[in-house]
Amino acid sequence: MSELSQINVSKTAVPIFAIIVLAIIFAVGLFVVGYDQGHIFSIVLGEQAYADLYIHELTHDMRHAAGFPCH
Ligand SMILES: [Zn+2]
Repeated sequence: MSELSQINVSKTAVPIFAIIVLAIIFAVGLFVVGYDQGHIFSIVLGEQAYADLYIHELTHDMRHAAGFPCH
C-alpha cells in the first residue's frame, strides 16, 4: 500500500516586511506629490530651495487635480 501525503502551502499571506516597505513608499510619495514646498531639496540646496520650489512646480497640476491645498 502506498500512502499519500499532502503539503499545503498558503500563497495568500503577504509578508509584513513588504507591507511596511510599501507604506513607507506611499508616505514619501504622498509627501512629494501633495505637500512638499521645497523641504526635500532644502537638504541639498539650503534656503534657496524654498524659493525655487522645483518639486512643487513639477507636481503643481497633479496637486490641483487631486484636490491638495496649494496656493
Ligand atoms: Zn497651485
